[in-house]
Amino acid sequence: MTCVDAGPVGGTIFSLFPPNTRFFSSPERLAIAGIGLQVPAQEKATREEYLAYLRSVVTTLDLPVHTYETVTAAGHDDQGWTVTTRDRGGQERRRTATHVVLAIGGTHRVRRLGVPGEDLPHVDHDLGDPHRFFRRRVVIIGGKNSAAEAALRCWRAGAEVSIVHRGDALHERVKYWILPELESLIEEGRVTAHFNSQVSRIEPHAVHVDGPGGPAEIPCQDVLMMIGYEQDPALFELFGVTREGPQDAPQHDVTTMQTTVPGVFVAGTAVAGTQQRFRTYIENAHVHAGRITAAILGHPPPPEVPARILPEA
Ligand SMILES: Cc1cc2nc3c(=O)[nH]c(=O)nc-3n(C[C@H](O)[C@H](O)[C@H](O)COP(=O)(O)OP(=O)(O)OC[C@H]3O[C@@H](n4cnc5c(N)ncnc54)[C@H](O)[C@@H]3O)c2cc1C
Repeated sequence: MTCVDAGPVGGTIFSLFPPNTRFFSSPERLAIAGIGLQVPAQEKATREEYLAYLRSVVTTLDLPVHTYETVTAAGHDDQGWTVTTRDRGGQERRRTATHVVLAIGGTHRVRRLGVPGEDLPHVDHDLGDPHRFFRRRVVIIGGKNSAAEAALRCWRAGAEVSIVHRGDALHERVKYWILPELESLIEEGRVTAHFNSQVSRIEPHAVHVDGPGGPAEIPCQDVLMMIGYEQDPALFELFGVTREGPQDAPQHDVTTMQTTVPGVFVAGTAVAGTQQRFRTYIENAHVHAGRITAAILGHPPPPEVPARILPEA
């Protein structure tokens, strides 16, 4: 078995979680391969703690993980698959396999608003280190978890924060330790919220919105556009996997995780395509590995674990 990844181990957590972000899931729901995830403060794990844990899992189990190798081509003959990767130095490598698991996630590229100015250099999609927003006027676009957490952290780091959200309130599933605090700051006028508002254009020093009171201009120096991500289906196309439904998800048999292409499986959040609302995440994707292993070995599907419909929030 070989595992290749275009980035580091835990790439999405590494690149999309701002420093010191805590998971909403409890450590025991994030742990994999029967290896406990111990957190020094007996709390939810942070990004840094989970990345360290993943490194330990790889070294403990001596997993053959090859990082910074992007899959660029795939071919099939009667011996099986030949998968080509390219590393950061441009070197290509070919590996053969009888079975391939596509665990490519669903957050390859940022969602776009399609308004003028969204490519300006002061528009960002990642919070990064909130320190950079000290004494800055920041407009945060979005009303779900990432936007709410960014608003609170930027405010605490000394920024003047305005939120623009098309809904009439922050999303109800924002982390329970963030939502009430941010709502209080909005009520007290320390953070400004423009609800029921759509961004019409972004300029170097202002965001223009259409809201309940008509068009408005919000002065700013930085814009954080936190409206989610989309899956890049390129690898599914490469392997000939068909997709379906409003989320453009790879078609697969849920008892085996095999796609429409024999020998090609999907696992993790990749199974859900581009999620409009997150229903597939680490917590409820653990079962995929057991189903795939059973299918490859020709065993009956493993017994179903009672599904947790909602993550802890
Ligand atoms: C801010 C934030 C907070 C979250 N909190 C939680 C939480 O509390 N609990 C929870 O359960 N989930 C949470 N999630 C969701 C969680 O991060 C994802 O469910 C999880 O990362 C999905 O794991 P995955 O392995 O399926 O996909 P990913 O982690 O997205 O991994 C996919 C991998 O595929 C690689 N890849 C893609 N294309 C190629 C290619 N062509 N060649 C080689 N490699 C490729 C990528 O480099 C990437 O490393 C959160 C997400 C975010 C952004």
